[in-house]
Amino acid sequence: MKKFFAALLVLVTLVIAVPGLVNASNWTKEQEPTTCWICGGSGSCSSCGGKGYVEEYGSDEEAKCEDCNGTGNCSNCGGNGEV
Ligand SMILES: [Zn+2]
Ligand SMILES: [Zn+2]
Repeated sequence: MKKFFAALLVLVTLVIAVPGLVNASNWTKEQEPTTCWICGGSGSCSSCGGKGYVEEYGSDEEAKCEDCNGTGNCSNCGGNGEV
């Protein structure tokens, strides 16, 4: 009977441990930073090219870039180049 309990213990340990390991590896994968697909890793706003302002069409005036709110940083990654 002792053998039965030993086998049961191993089985229970596996059932508890295996999903935990799978979740842990998935979690690590999600946390890995990936290159921003908007700016391609440069961190610059794609609308204004990182300047923070855009030249208004037909005039010499420069207007604040709406996409990055004038910061010049990519709105997707915040200027890190990674997400
Ligand atoms: Zn911008
Ligand atoms: Zn970006």
